[in-house]
Amino acid sequence: MSKVLIIGCGGVGSVAAHKCAQNSGVFDEICIASRSIKKCDELKDKISGKTSAKISTAQVDANDINALVNLIEKFNPDVVMNLALPYQDLKIMEACLRTKKNYLDTANYEPENAAKFEYREQWAFDEKFKNAGITAVLGCGFDPGVSGIFTAYALKHHFDEIETLDILDCNAGDHGYPFATNFNPEINIREVTANGCYFENGQFIETEPMEIKRVYNFPEIGQKDMYLLYHEELESLAKNIPGIKRIRFFMTFGQSYLTHLKCLENVGMTSIKPIDFNGQKIVPLQFLKAVLPDPASLGSRTVGKTNIGCIIHGKKDGKPRDYYVYNVCDHQKCFREVGSQAISYTTGVPAMIGAAMLATGEWNLKGVRNVEEFNPDPFMDALNKFGLSWIETFSPEIVE
Ligand code: NDP
Repeated sequence: MSKVLIIGCGGVGSVAAHKCAQNSGVFDEICIASRSIKKCDELKDKISGKTSAKISTAQVDANDINALVNLIEKFNPDVVMNLALPYQDLKIMEACLRTKKNYLDTANYEPENAAKFEYREQWAFDEKFKNAGITAVLGCGFDPGVSGIFTAYALKHHFDEIETLDILDCNAGDHGYPFATNFNPEINIREVTANGCYFENGQFIETEPMEIKRVYNFPEIGQKDMYLLYHEELESLAKNIPGIKRIRFFMTFGQSYLTHLKCLENVGMTSIKPIDFNGQKIVPLQFLKAVLPDPASLGSRTVGKTNIGCIIHGKKDGKPRDYYVYNVCDHQKCFREVGSQAISYTTGVPAMIGAAMLATGEWNLKGVRNVEEFNPDPFMDALNKFGLSWIETFSPEIVE
């Protein structure tokens, strides 16, 4: 039996806590810790009574390494799940290193004052984690996360060689607001206003934001516009999938979202440069986050489905092969189960599964690892068991 410490009690942390509680065969003690203990206590009240796992809560500022170390030493978890914000990744990894505890996150490190993300600073912990005999699993949400697991599974079972990979992320959910984001608005807007980028023939090629558009007919959803974005798993998959020639990531956006975003960008509201306002410094994007709906509050009003998956082209036994593996998730079904919309659900479930893989020793490679480095099979089985069943086809529609 294992103990898990969940840091961060927003949309994703809340789903992960529900799911750890459902998996009480693995997790018999769960501590939910965040900046505000009130949210943790409210969540504890919702979950307790539905599980045999013992649940506790704690207040912690994840920017304070000593406070993290104290909490980890006191609770003594087998795994620390970092479901706070990407800004805290390095601090939480350092605290895990000092206490020799396994670490898992769903988003790679981003400095607060620069909208750029890369694995370099997290991968730099590798030797130290290996020497300490512990594991860090990076990027274990849906994308990154299941996108890497799907690719590793395809390589293990269906291909001798993968040539191209397209990761397609479609959210056809409707929350009824003219503009809102489905996960932390600050992180989401930083991601989608950045330049696009894809990997081809050993190089990363930059595009203007939203420069490359395609239309795709998503199973169970229908035709949607999707745009090429840079996404962090491109960096790890380019390194970990031998011989891969091209990796692209596409995300769907509705016209209303794009029009609002352009307007907010044009007036300077998406900037992360501090400005003077009434005698104090404020960051426009942080102010925007404060006036937008809290993603955790969208669950009850979001209807429709998500479809996230990987289209892979390569060779098996010398013959060309196409393969598409995807999950379809229904926003209202997620809400009925755990009180959250599908974006938090599709992130929180894989985070719990990754933590269970570590806790049970199914995944036992030491050091700092991305999900595609592990055995995908028990993870794929657990996706079916814990609410994210997947579908595969060998005759997909191909993206130009
Ligand atoms: P939320 O903003 O809803 O939740 C973040 C939580 O972290 C809040 O509870 C917040 O506390 C807490 N927090 C923030 N700063 C600190 C701190 N210094 N110390 C302690 N707690 C802190 O975000 P989401 O749940 O939507 O997203 C969580 C993570 O999941 C993000 O890193 C996001 O990028 C990632 N993600 C990954 C996806 C994937 O597929 N891989 C998809 C979607 C999200 P407070 O309530 O006080 O603000």
